Amino acid sequence: MEPTTKSLPLDESARLATLEQLQIFGTDPEPRYDLIAKLAARFLQVPIALLSFIDAETLCVKARTGIDLKKLPRHQTFCAHALTLPQGCLLLEDTQKDPRFANHPLVVGPPGIRFYAGYPIRINGHAVGTLCVMDTKPRTLTAEEEQTLGELAAMAEKLLMARLQAIEYREAMYRQESLAGELKAILETAAAGIIRIDTQGRIQSFNRAAERLFGYRAAEVLGKNVSLLMPSPWAEAHDGYLERYLRTREAHIIGIGREVRGRRADGSEFPLHLAVSEVQSAGETHFIGIVSDISALHEAMEAAQRANQAKSEFLSRMSHELRTPLNAILGFSQLLLQSTREPLGERQRRHVEQIHRSGQHLLALVNDVLDLARIEAGRLSFSLEPVALRTLIDEALELVAPLADEKGIRIHDHSRDAPPGRVWADFTRAKQVLLNLLSNAVKYNRPDGEIHLRVLTPGEHEGPAGQWGIEIADTGIGIDPERLDELFQPFSRLGQEQGQIEGTGIGLVISRQLVEQMGGQFIVHSQPGEGSRFIFTLPGTATNSAIDVQNLRLPTLVGRTILAIDDNPANLTLLEQILGGEAGVQLLYAPTAARGIELATERRPDVILLDIHLPGIDGHEVLERLHRQAETESIPVIALSADASAEAVVKAERHPRLVAYLTKPLRLDTLMSALSQALSLSQEPQT
Ligand code: ADP
Repeated sequence: MEPTTKSLPLDESARLATLEQLQIFGTDPEPRYDLIAKLAARFLQVPIALLSFIDAETLCVKARTGIDLKKLPRHQTFCAHALTLPQGCLLLEDTQKDPRFANHPLVVGPPGIRFYAGYPIRINGHAVGTLCVMDTKPRTLTAEEEQTLGELAAMAEKLLMARLQAIEYREAMYRQESLAGELKAILETAAAGIIRIDTQGRIQSFNRAAERLFGYRAAEVLGKNVSLLMPSPWAEAHDGYLERYLRTREAHIIGIGREVRGRRADGSEFPLHLAVSEVQSAGETHFIGIVSDISALHEAMEAAQRANQAKSEFLSRMSHELRTPLNAILGFSQLLLQSTREPLGERQRRHVEQIHRSGQHLLALVNDVLDLARIEAGRLSFSLEPVALRTLIDEALELVAPLADEKGIRIHDHSRDAPPGRVWADFTRAKQVLLNLLSNAVKYNRPDGEIHLRVLTPGEHEGPAGQWGIEIADTGIGIDPERLDELFQPFSRLGQEQGQIEGTGIGLVISRQLVEQMGGQFIVHSQPGEGSRFIFTLPGTATNSAIDVQNLRLPTLVGRTILAIDDNPANLTLLEQILGGEAGVQLLYAPTAARGIELATERRPDVILLDIHLPGIDGHEVLERLHRQAETESIPVIALSADASAEAVVKAERHPRLVAYLTKPLRLDTLMSALSQALSLSQEPQT
């Protein structure tokens, strides 16, 4: 009796898949299944009971009683028929009377089965095997007996379901363990230090890279407060910071990567980059910090800055040395040209004029190089003050007018059409930029060309928001768009080297640097043959609402006291513009170091803004004194300086009380973020 498609259950393939999941086919006997077979035989009072599973070909007996049967080809079994039933049990009260089974080998041969009752065992709706009872004589089954057999089959199903769940659980555990193993391996072999802390700041895990970075073994730090890895004042502030973050969700490091300082086991400090993320696992909040040592980067930057400084110093010394003989060349050539007592011959005059022109060119070069070197070394000081654009433009136009007249170039001043704008700038430096652009517009114009000068209000240009722009457009030769970058490379004259127009190729480099150092932006548009449009922008003063101070202000400023120690009234006015006027912020001023220390001691401000270059006591000395006094030692300080030189920055950064070192001209966004960092370290406002 080979199995036909008709004798196969409709869900045959799903049934086989379920059987496979159970991992039970062909396995050894197990007492719990044996018991079911035994109970079935006893309750139904039959000699034979079997619990079997059936795969595509074979019936395999898992539990048996009254017969020593292990396997049978599927097609020789009654059970294969039981599997195809949609419900209930297959009942053969007398096998010899059923034409399907009368000639079955187990009926005609030993053990001579005459009675059979089999219940399919279903897992997730698929029949994977049967629980059956058999007798060698015909008999009937009472309803109660049939129910008992069904219940025993259901019991077998329960056991199998539990088995399936145990298998799935084991597999999930295995997957989880191998994932955990993989993650652990990644964690341990990662090049960056990975440190996990709980909401109390206690270290929960510390990978090998972290061990190497900080010089601690994981076992030494686990459970300890993470502030162990930070120098003062961050170590003291950390608990409060964490607590405040959890309360207000106001983040300074979490979710944001930043540079901080670390402390090794031996007490030494090093700069590191820290990225912290918040993770929720098993209902608990943890913070994972990824740290990498950036000492090498710092050293490289310091070395580069030192090299740059050395180059700038060399250039400026060279320029000074050159100026002395140059003055003699210019002076004596002028004397020769003007001498009436011994007038020069025509040829001699032409030669001396050439010497004088070349000397002047050289002097212009030397001056430009000197300026550039000073800017690059951060040694050019700016005195930022509110500058009326009107005055700036009038003074520059007056100077450039003779040059324009000489060349027949007309300058159209449209700046009067714009509202009167005021910017924060160093007047002389801003004028230098405007003059450079105007004289270029004259020099590189066509004969009888035109220049249009406009003032662009904030929003009328593509530069930074809140800034005013000055636009100088000419009708000159224009610049190839592909060569625009070259404009800002020193000594690059874009082909003018061979021409008649005098120049050094440094003017625009200097102009852009000056504008950027004053917080503005330099923009160029040009088309060859059509002319060029240069725009430079500068931050507007608050009075003409050019700076959107409101948007920059951070909520932490409310209720705080800020002490500014600065001898330059212009800087104080600027701070007033930025910080004053806001309800709840109290600004204290000290024009001298001594007064600053006095005010700091008396008023205990939340943060001190300290100009490093003070007359009398040096800013570093002020820092020292503040640090030594109990009343002032924990007040965070932001240093302000016009000195961006590497040495000054490095010296300042090593100071424990220092939150930030900002170089002038101040950028409002950097100042605000430094303030917010400083305030996060200081106490909460009392109000
Ligand atoms: P310089 O005028 O002394 O050569 P700059 O740095 O001011 O130096 O300008 C660099 C070069 O840029 C100039 O040599 C010139 O080729 C080009 N350039 C500057 N301004 C203009 C302009 N308005 N139109 C066309 N070319 C210009």
